[in-house]
Amino acid sequence: MRNAKYVEPRMILKFVKPPCAAVIAAMALSVMAGTAAQAAECPRKDALGTSRVLSVDAATTPRVGLKSFPQTLPLQDREVVLTFDDGPWPGTTPKVLAALARECVRATFFLIGRSASAHPELVRRIAAQGHTIGHHTWSHPNIKYMKPDAAVADIDKGFAAVEKALHGTTTTPTTPFFRYPYFEMTPATLDLLQKRGIAVFGADLWASDWEPMKPAQQLKLLIERLQIARKGIILLHDPKAQTAAMMPAFLRYLRANHYRVVHLVPAAAASSAASAQNPK
Ligand SMILES: [Zn+2]
Repeated sequence: MRNAKYVEPRMILKFVKPPCAAVIAAMALSVMAGTAAQAAECPRKDALGTSRVLSVDAATTPRVGLKSFPQTLPLQDREVVLTFDDGPWPGTTPKVLAALARECVRATFFLIGRSASAHPELVRRIAAQGHTIGHHTWSHPNIKYMKPDAAVADIDKGFAAVEKALHGTTTTPTTPFFRYPYFEMTPATLDLLQKRGIAVFGADLWASDWEPMKPAQQLKLLIERLQIARKGIILLHDPKAQTAAMMPAFLRYLRANHYRVVHLVPAAAASSAASAQNPK
């Protein structure tokens, strides 16, 4: 059953020219590789699986993703992080979740607050399947063209909406991961997020899935880019039907070509997961 067609939030997509990285000193990458909090057991022996958990500490890695910043996560050759923006969307997010579940792969979803508010059950479902939930503002505006107060208000409303969907309260974000719509950011909001201990995610490569194309074309384009990059944080959009349709084939490609999927978690969550699973 198809829901109403997903409409990209109306804005000029300026992905070709990534914004200036602003002043980011060479921050020490102290993202730790989690060893105890490994991927959950997978019932399928031939599934892709999640190879490891990477804990991201905003205090030491406040900004990652080479399309926007000088640094990214410490991924090894053929390690990828799957990220999905702009959901949840009832028509397509369940298909993406099903593809990920079949291959026992965990991803990070950067949710739009207003969509989370409209589909809280879907937000809880994403979390229940073990994925990490990041934040992507309330209404998907271009922060750069907003008055400072309005920009902060939209960011905060987004945090609150996702938290409300997840936990019934609107406290500070339990997962301090944020991605700017269109990767358009301002120094003031970057400073604010850093002060609050919220990590800002760019991407290392993307599927350009905001451009309409057939799933097969989408898959080909993404594979070509991955073959060049060989690793990185991949940006996808779960509300896009072409992306949802190609996910099973893309995950099989990753497995067949010996790529490994890394699951991101916030630093605090990683240490508590480790202590719970590995009391030694
Ligand atoms: Zn977006």
